[in-house]
This record gives sequence, structure tokens and C-alpha cells, in this order.
Amino acid sequence: MKQFNPDTITRENIRQLVPYSSARDEFKSAARVFLDANENSLGSAIIESGFNRYPDPQQKSLKGAIAELKQVNEENIFIGNGSDEPIDLLVRAFCEPGLNNMIICPPTYGMYEVVAGINNIPIIRVPLLPGFELDAEGVLAAVNADSRIIFICSPNNPSANLMKAEAIEKLLTGFNGLVVVDEAYIDFAADASWLRRLETFPNLVVLQTLSKAWGLAALRVGMAFASTAIIGILNRIKPPYNLSEAAQQLALQALAEKSRVDEWIAILLRQREWLAQELAKLSCVEIVYPSNANFLLVKTTNAKEIYQYLTGKGIVVRNRSSVPGCENCLRITVGSPAENQQIIQSLQSFPS
Ligand SMILES: *Cc1c(COP(=O)(O)O)cnc(C)c1O
Repeated sequence: MKQFNPDTITRENIRQLVPYSSARDEFKSAARVFLDANENSLGSAIIESGFNRYPDPQQKSLKGAIAELKQVNEENIFIGNGSDEPIDLLVRAFCEPGLNNMIICPPTYGMYEVVAGINNIPIIRVPLLPGFELDAEGVLAAVNADSRIIFICSPNNPSANLMKAEAIEKLLTGFNGLVVVDEAYIDFAADASWLRRLETFPNLVVLQTLSKAWGLAALRVGMAFASTAIIGILNRIKPPYNLSEAAQQLALQALAEKSRVDEWIAILLRQREWLAQELAKLSCVEIVYPSNANFLLVKTTNAKEIYQYLTGKGIVVRNRSSVPGCENCLRITVGSPAENQQIIQSLQSFPS
């Protein structure tokens, strides 16, 4: 064969796919301060052991520790290679490609749309209302007989707000399909987790992760919590060894450090308030949106210029200005006290 172009035999939806572009994909130059990916700047925990055996495909030890920490039965827990894995498995298990649709409420986390694209799942978009509030009536009016999953992100990325409980409850009772509540940032939020409502709502799936408050973004450990029936379906289709032994051991070790994580959360919450106050004083800042997460969405006078200015100073944030509803907005992760001071000092001398 002289020439072979794999594009000619690639599935149409894969050819047209716009892949997920991470904060680190988009940032090309050298930086010292990383406030672009909502990681924990304060640290993480580690151990070492033998890796000659395959890992436990059911992750029993880790599941036991998560069950205790979250006060949820082990049968109601799925552990994934990041919470991005259960997002993909849920779509593959419940949505027939080209037929069943899923609902998202933009501006929101980009992976839902990417996973839909990979799996050729039509998307129905019901934008958030002003103030980034969930439009529960709008969602219920938009669903049809082919709808299978509604993805709700709360606290929402990138807007940082919690969705009102009454609105989510309306979806749970009014929709005959899965309602996935992505709680990646719940450790920084004022409201309680939806974990406590799993027994009330058999169609509820709660996603959480060790990537944010726990400071373990590189380990790739995420959780889905749901009814035993839903967890059973995810277990049936997961790759058998989806969580490496290293990830299982290190996550288990980290879970013993809850008090340390709680201290970090307390520091980051105080830093969030400080950062919000200082940002609000700047002439290049128009709005600092209220946050229940470890980042702030900030409406600026000129996001592109400010982004480039900060990049020149070795500080990388996330430019969200191309996202509908986030015009001229930067998403700034709450970093360590020193990093937060550095970004404020830099912005104070931004020529406006
Ligand atoms: C960061 C993030 C995740 C990704 O979590 P991983 O466990 O690292 O895959 C999921 N959802 C939202 C909304 C996020 O911001």
C-alpha cells in the first residue's frame, strides 16, 4: 500500500471532533505560577511499594476508605481514572450513539461535550440563566423521549457558583433519566453534598474527585456515587484495571491525611476571600463573581490583554473569554498565599 490516509475511514463524528483542550495544552511558554487548572498549590501526599502484580480491579481497600470518609456504602461507589472516566462510561452505557441525547447547561465543564462528541451523542444545550442559575423549567421543557442524561456541575466550572437545590430537585423528580451532579469542587462549597440524597433519588449520580481539594490531580482518582444498579452497570463496562496500583496505594495513603486537607481547605477559603477583595479593587476588573470553589471567575476590561500580560510575568490563568456567557472573563485558581500576592501585585501594575 503506497498511501494510506486513516482520515478516509475514521468515523464522521470523530473526524469532526474538537478535542478537549486543557489549560496546559493552551499554555505553551515557561511559567512559575500555575493558577490555570484549579489544582492544589499547597501540596499532596506519597508512598511506594511493589508493582509486579495487577492491581485490585474492584479497588476494595480504597473503596472501604472512601465509604468511611463519605459515609456511603461500598456498593454505591465507583472509582475511576479521574472523574472524567465515569463521565465517559455513563454516556457509553446510557446513550445510544446517534440517537439518545444528553443535556448540558453552558457555560460548564468542557468534558461533557467532548465525551458526547467522541460517542456521537447529540447534545441539547440549555444555557444557565443570568447569575449562572440553573434553568430547571427550561431543561425539563427541552428534554424529549430520547434524552438520557442531564449533566449539572455544582459548584459550576467556570462560573464557581452552586446550583440551587430546588432546581436540581426539580430535575431529579421531573426527568426520567440520569441526573449527574458533578461535585468536583464540593470541598470548597458552603452547601452539603448531594451524596446524602442518593437514597431518595434512584436516578441521581454524584461525581467527586481527589484532583482538587485533595491535591492529587496527577494520580487520576475520581468517584461516582449512585444506586447499586447504576454502579453495577458502570462496573460491567469499565476497563478491568482502570485504577493503577500506584494510584490505589497513594490515594489510600492520602485519605488518611484528611486533617491536613481540611487545613488546606481552610487556608484556601481565606485566600479566596482575600483574592476576591483585592481583585475587586483593580481598575481592570469589572466583576468578581461569588465563588463556592477554589477559583474565581473574573470579568475584566480586556481578558486577552491581561492574560498575555500575566503570561509575560510567568503567571498563567485560564482565559474563558471565548465561552458564551463568559465574555472577557478569566478564571483564576486560588493559589498559595505567595502566588496570590504575586498575581495581585502584577495586576496592580497592569497598564490600563
Ligand atoms: C477538574 C474537574 C473534573 C475532573 O476531575 P478528574 O477527576 O481530574 O478527572 C471534573 N469535573 C469538573 C467540573 C472539573 O472541574
